[in-house]
Amino acid sequence: MSVDDNTPVLRGCIKLPLATDELLEVTAKAKDYAIMHGAAMRSKTSFSPDSLNFAPFVLVPSSFPRKEFEKAIALQPIINRLMHNVAHDEEFITTTLAETIKVDEFTANLFNIYRKVLAHGFTQRISLGMLRSDLMLESRCPELSPLLDSSAGGGDDDDVDADTDADVEEQEQRRAKDAKAKTKTKANPAKIGGRTSSAYCCWKQVEINTIASGFGHLGPASKTIQSFVLRELGHAEKLQRMPKNDALAGLCDGMVKAWDIYAKPQAVILFIIEEVSYNICDQRFHEFYIRETYPHIKVLRRTLTEVHRDGKLGQHKELLLGSTEVAVIYFRAGYEPGHYPSQGEWDARYLMETSLAIKCPSIHYHLAGTKKVQQALAQPSVLERFINDPEEMKAVGKIFTGLYSLDDNEAGNANYEMALRTPEKFVLKPQREGGGNNVYGLDIPDALKRMSRVERSAWILMDLIHPPLSQGYMVRPGSAMPPQIVDMVSELGIFGVVIGDAEHIVHNYQAGHMLRTKLSTANEGGVAAGLGALDSPYLIDSDDEDGYF
Ligand code: ADP
Ligand code: MG
Repeated sequence: MSVDDNTPVLRGCIKLPLATDELLEVTAKAKDYAIMHGAAMRSKTSFSPDSLNFAPFVLVPSSFPRKEFEKAIALQPIINRLMHNVAHDEEFITTTLAETIKVDEFTANLFNIYRKVLAHGFTQRISLGMLRSDLMLESRCPELSPLLDSSAGGGDDDDVDADTDADVEEQEQRRAKDAKAKTKTKANPAKIGGRTSSAYCCWKQVEINTIASGFGHLGPASKTIQSFVLRELGHAEKLQRMPKNDALAGLCDGMVKAWDIYAKPQAVILFIIEEVSYNICDQRFHEFYIRETYPHIKVLRRTLTEVHRDGKLGQHKELLLGSTEVAVIYFRAGYEPGHYPSQGEWDARYLMETSLAIKCPSIHYHLAGTKKVQQALAQPSVLERFINDPEEMKAVGKIFTGLYSLDDNEAGNANYEMALRTPEKFVLKPQREGGGNNVYGLDIPDALKRMSRVERSAWILMDLIHPPLSQGYMVRPGSAMPPQIVDMVSELGIFGVVIGDAEHIVHNYQAGHMLRTKLSTANEGGVAAGLGALDSPYLIDSDDEDGYF
């Protein structure tokens, strides 16, 4: 991660460190609380279907600027609509992915399904989108970080080496704007451990997920653990700054709304799962919520292999597993090549795609969630195609950080040269989901040089985001007790549900959030991958008193 002495530190929720005895006691309690409230996972190292470990978590919630949190929440229905429109734009999807599918076999396989479905016409015109827009605070945001330059001596001064004349001009304008903002804004950043504390950050989108958007249960569960801890520590009054989070209900209700639209009382909701589900709580709680809240709706869990074995289409193209009709398919697998060990799994995906069942996601939604599409959307001229309202367009345009194509053309090759010159500014991403696939900073030149010009087009380049730090205790199964205070960075995910067809959106809402936090030294923070930890936001305001609350 790009962290240095100038990286600002967000104020903590409570004063740390805790006394060792108190810390030991509350941590032991919190671990049990986590397991007993389903903030848990199957162990990867000693797997057993009969037991759970608690999922790594941060002991007390990490601070997040309220204004930015509220902005993200408010923007989600607009992002939902944007993604819905993108998914239904055949020409855009086809041209955007044209180069990528020449070299990326996985995306090409998905695209082939799309092409075949297009050729035969969609059996089911309604799609269920359950999205998660992931974002990070950007501490070097030119518009909103007036204090950081002046007090921390850092800020966004590192972009002096502009690439083009246009960049120079843009930077001049930005500096002039910054200077104006500095005189307007009054605030007092506090120093923590020699670093600057401030709530002044904007946020930038990391990615948007359209398939298997996880943490609908673990998001709210994190709040439950941390609320318990704060109460145990005598800070019950802090709970009011932890925003309500109904992600599980919001997402499951989305599935149920799709089930209602399908309108067959006997039809079931099908979860497509991996052979082994380590992140089992984050799936079972969805199932249990549906069963408890809507006992008349059955839920089945099947792998792609099982669907290949047992699935067929009925007379009206309904998906049948044996004699059971499927109304809604919720993919918690199918987003990476390993989920398709043979042609059989691809055939199963195609079978489902051609069926009458409502898919989450349908194939066009899946393709709309590729990194390549995100990169194309970041261009203002492209955004215009999907958003009419100028205010909305401005708001969405702001969330994108620099995203660059590496296609084999003039612009792509210039971006390639830029990456070789200043790799420390970028992250390089392939068309994959699930974490662990990106290349960061100084590793980029070697990775790029190993690729042919054509191979490069399967990747995109993205500006590195520089989130502020927070400090706290990260608690992991098997790690030493008591936990030590560590520097961490967080990534917020906002869930959205959107249901409709090419012409109409029938449901569109924001559906809660999740916060994942990782060590500031880690590039990626997947919780299941073992790098991240469950967390939840503690909302701070820019005019709060300095120091701890
Ligand atoms: P995936 O689909 O594999 O989850 P992401 O684009 O979300 O891919 O990247 C994985 C992780 O890498 C993110 O969760 C984040 O921690 C880190 N990351 C991705 N893009 C950036 C960026 N532009 N700046 C800083 N960190 C990033
Ligand atoms: Mg991600």
